[in-house]
Amino acid sequence: MPRLQVAVDTPQHAGLDTTLDYLSEQPLALGTLVRAPLGKREVLGIVWPGGAGEVPDQDLKPLVAVLDTLPALDAAWQSLVTFASGYYQRGLGELALSVLPPELHKLDASQLALRLRKLHKAMATTADAGPAEAPLSPSPEQAAVLADLDATPAATPVLLHGVTGSGKTEVYLHAAAQTLAAGRQALVLVPEINLTPQLEARFAARFAGRRIVSLHSALTPAQRLRSWLAAHLGLADLVLGTRLAIFTPMPRLGLIVVDEEHDPSYKQQEGARYSARDLAVYRARLQDARVLLGSATPSLESWQRANEGRYRRLELPSRIGGALLPRVRLVDMNQQPKDRGGAALSPPLLEAIRQRIARGEQSLVFLNRRGYAPVLHCADCGWKSGCPHCSAWRVFHKLDRTLRCHHCGFTERVPRACPECGNLDIAPIGRGTERLEEQIGQLLADAQGVPPRIARIDADSTRLKGSLEAQLGAVHAGEVDVLVGTQMVTKGHDFRRITLVAAVNPDSALFSSDFRAPERLFGLLMQAAGRAGRSAEHAQAAEMWVQTWHPQHPLYAALRQHDFAAFAEGQLKERESAGLPPFAHLAMLRADAKQAEAAQDFLQAAADLAPALPGADQVSVYAPVPLPVARVAGVERMQMLVESASRPALQHFLAAWAPALHGLRRSGARKVLRWAIDVDPLAI
Ligand SMILES: [Zn+2]
Ligand SMILES: [Zn+2]
Repeated sequence: MPRLQVAVDTPQHAGLDTTLDYLSEQPLALGTLVRAPLGKREVLGIVWPGGAGEVPDQDLKPLVAVLDTLPALDAAWQSLVTFASGYYQRGLGELALSVLPPELHKLDASQLALRLRKLHKAMATTADAGPAEAPLSPSPEQAAVLADLDATPAATPVLLHGVTGSGKTEVYLHAAAQTLAAGRQALVLVPEINLTPQLEARFAARFAGRRIVSLHSALTPAQRLRSWLAAHLGLADLVLGTRLAIFTPMPRLGLIVVDEEHDPSYKQQEGARYSARDLAVYRARLQDARVLLGSATPSLESWQRANEGRYRRLELPSRIGGALLPRVRLVDMNQQPKDRGGAALSPPLLEAIRQRIARGEQSLVFLNRRGYAPVLHCADCGWKSGCPHCSAWRVFHKLDRTLRCHHCGFTERVPRACPECGNLDIAPIGRGTERLEEQIGQLLADAQGVPPRIARIDADSTRLKGSLEAQLGAVHAGEVDVLVGTQMVTKGHDFRRITLVAAVNPDSALFSSDFRAPERLFGLLMQAAGRAGRSAEHAQAAEMWVQTWHPQHPLYAALRQHDFAAFAEGQLKERESAGLPPFAHLAMLRADAKQAEAAQDFLQAAADLAPALPGADQVSVYAPVPLPVARVAGVERMQMLVESASRPALQHFLAAWAPALHGLRRSGARKVLRWAIDVDPLAI
């Protein structure tokens, strides 16, 4: 019997290589899905390229079944997975099998064949639809961008820098139309599941009669498998999805769009910590597809690549229909009365919202902290509402009278009195969205004491299925005067009647130890500003208010001018002189343990291995430090930064380091619960 290499998901710490040899009754094409015995289990596997191993034939097990009703995963898909596994230092089999739909792991050959028959039948009957909506006639600015896009070779990645409301989607639709017309498939990535229905509706209207499927984690397992199969079989022309969709096999792939390419949700935060945006660029090259990255506030990595000419930058600097960008007003909090009774909003901002209400316009006020107050405090003995399992405060939620830890979820009823000294007068410190909502209701009540109509959108108020849609519906219907929320409300939503957006307390990011915090803040504020004045009739009055103690900060100066280029230039200068990305390359080694000393010891032992490894002369390994929130759910978390000016040197080094770390873990001397390498980490 021929022997084959098969990628299977073996636990990394077991020390098994992640492709194993099996015997097969017949030769099988690379990429064929099979079912294989693994220990006492039977698992899904993929026939993988590679030489014969050293295990003699008589010690090998035969495959259980071949799932050859499904075409093999093609060479481009195999290359993408191989690259991601190597680059992000994760087992090949683990990665390859984890990016397949979970449902696929459960099916035997006959069940799979049944699903495929059903899919073909469904696809045969739903193809025809009404007439497709005609493309909008482009603005002169859009027309210029479309012409530039058409003139750009497909092999050059395109960075589409367009302010909010400038019609980036129209450019995506144009590129998709050309791709489909050429008989190829398009993949469109969005950062959030919530944004897929809107976009799906627009693509569906434009491409009536074409098959569009979506892929994200909120689908049922059966739906997800169906979408994946439709893409893999080439039955679907368009795939819309979140980061996990980057691994969808698409044999005719001709276009990848990454919308809001700067968004941190494109980076996976567990398992293989891949960046779907970066993989999109790599994958496009593999499949001779065009890649289009779009954003109003591109990541500084992409911006710098465009500066270097490696990406083609296309600009949409104005809003559709000539609508103006909102005027930015900074409120200098140093100049405001000190005694406002703890009110979050300054008098001029309150007055501006009052005027909006009187005119029947809407305001959006956001604060990046949910709950009522971040901590409860006893003034007598100094007790604070700490979490017993984490190095963090528990947040006071007034609606259900709970103290909740936002890190581990530990929840208790609010105590009647201070648990330490019995003082009945324990008070909230600071404020979250719940308290902001309450204050706005009180401060903006009319002469009869009737509060304005307020909606709150945050992770608490939208926990129930359908509640986000209901809240958004009320805003769109004009049943809301003031919308309060966390940054959740700033993303993507097309509010027509909002003419004022206010950031209550954004300053903390200016002085964060994370070098990316200003970049994120600028993106957030620009995105938020983009929610104001989206319809031309309201654009004249649109304003973005920022309450700040540091009105002279250059970030706010750039914001006032809506000048992303100036902001980026300043940041890139700082990054270059500090030796930070995109001018240097980073990886983070993280370790979790019951005791901080154990995590520290593991990282120190890892650091001690480093000097002997290839590439080490070009790599700096820094000292282990605790994470900003060091203890979560009783686990101590430490990390250690690795930096190099050379990406190949860093890759070379990591490739030798990772196996050595497995050995370190297996040696058993250091009791860490888990460890992981994060290549190109987003949070430092
Ligand atoms: Zn007390
Ligand atoms: Zn906790």
